[in-house]
Parts: sequence; C-alpha cells; structure tokens
Amino acid sequence: MAWYPGATRYELQPESDDQPAIRPTQFIMHSIIAPWTAKRVYEYWRDSTNLESHFGLGYEGDLGQFIGTETRADANYQANRRADGTGAVSIETASNLQGSDPWTPAQVEELIKLGVWLHQKHGIPLRICRTWTDPGFGYHRLHAEWAVSGTSCPGDARVKQFKEVVFPGILARAAGTPEEEDDMTPEERKLLVDTAAAVKSIASAVKRIEDKLAIAPWTYKQPGLADKRDMNQVVRDIDKGVKSLSAAGQTPAQIAALADKLADQLADRLAN
Ligand SMILES: [Zn+2]
Repeated sequence: MAWYPGATRYELQPESDDQPAIRPTQFIMHSIIAPWTAKRVYEYWRDSTNLESHFGLGYEGDLGQFIGTETRADANYQANRRADGTGAVSIETASNLQGSDPWTPAQVEELIKLGVWLHQKHGIPLRICRTWTDPGFGYHRLHAEWAVSGTSCPGDARVKQFKEVVFPGILARAAGTPEEEDDMTPEERKLLVDTAAAVKSIASAVKRIEDKLAIAPWTYKQPGLADKRDMNQVVRDIDKGVKSLSAAGQTPAQIAALADKLADQLADRLAN
C-alpha cells in the first residue's frame, strides 16, 4: 500500500482493506462534475456510494487520498484491475456541473506533482497510454475500455490542458529530477532531456506571449487574438523549430536559447 506524502490521507474503509492489490501502471484523470473540495469527495465516497477513486482534488489544490495506490479503486472500468494484476490509479477533480471548465492553476500544479511521484514511485512510464492496457498517463475518455458506456470526462478544456500543460509538465519536471532507478539507454535519456528543455522553452514562450497580450492563462480564445494568430499555431511553430534543432544535434542549452529567440520573435509578431 502506498500513500502519497503530498496528499491528506482520508482512508476509506472497508474498501482499503478489502479490495485486491494492483500493480499500478497507469494514471487516469477525471472530472467529478461537482465543485467539491477533496474532503467533500471523500465524504461522498464514504457516505453515498460504494464507488471510489484513489485521489480527489479540489479547486484550491487541496488533494486527498482515499485508497493506497497498490489497491484497486473504481472509476476506470476495465482498467481498475486487469487479469494480469495491473491497474490504473484514478483521480477525481473538482469541476463545474457541466464538466466544462478548465483545471485551475492550483489543480494543474498538483496533477503534475502527483504524476511525477507516480512515475518515480511506481515506474509509470512518461508517455500517453497508446492503448487501454498500455502503461502511461491518460484522461478518462481516452480509451473506450476505461468507461462503462462512453464518457466525455474530463471535458474538452481539460483534455486540451492535459495535452498542452499537464502531461508536458510531468515530462519536464520528471526529467529535471534525478531518478532512483534508470533503465533508459543514453539515446532515450538524451531525447527526454532535449524534450524537457523544449517543453520548458515553450512554456516560458507562452508565458511571455500571455504577458505581452495581457491575457489570462487558459483563455486563449479571446477576441482580438483570433484575427492575429491562433495560440496553438504559435506553440506548434515553436515545437517544430525545437524538434528540428534537436534532430540537428544541438545541445539542450543551445535548443533552449534558440527556442527562446524564436519565441521572442513570435511574441513580437503577435503583439504588433
Ligand atoms: Zn471520469
């Protein structure tokens, strides 16, 4: 049984003792369709249903853990525990009643930190699950086998954040932290470090563009921006530049410097 040190422990019984063990190989993110705190999520699992998730995350970044990560929890249908004993760790996150709002910055930060811990503690690999059984990171609607009868969870805004902010954040943060066991080849490690440097450059570029245009994060679809240039296209441009530099054998420091220069040029073009 493993408990994340960054979460408040609200242990659910009898589930915590009674449910079978899993070897956690996936991390799947959900929206709970209620603006609840982590404690309120715990009370709901405890008092109103025999279902549960491993974690619950409130809007303010308050994080609760209800079941150890090596014990089966619900929320991911066939991925809860597979015949081979592997299973997915689940997190329910506070959302509006439509499940349409983005994660708050505090939620994004906690999702990244928890993702890094799951990678380090359980060796969940730093990739997006390619199939429903593939070890890695994902969101509920990514694979049909993860939902009983189809779902839009966690909502369009959060799927976009998962792809553009949360998963790249886990990748970058994990690469910046020494790992206890390292079975990567030197080529794989170089690719990861290069990618992390690129992601950091892109994140800082987006921040600078946001500052220049004085727009809030998560609200890229602002009037006025559309007639200049779509933010996603900007990110794609930067990403493309960084990838070609990496392929050309540039060091991470050179890539970061050149990506910053490119970002500045793009920010200027956007602002004018
Ligand atoms: Zn869900």
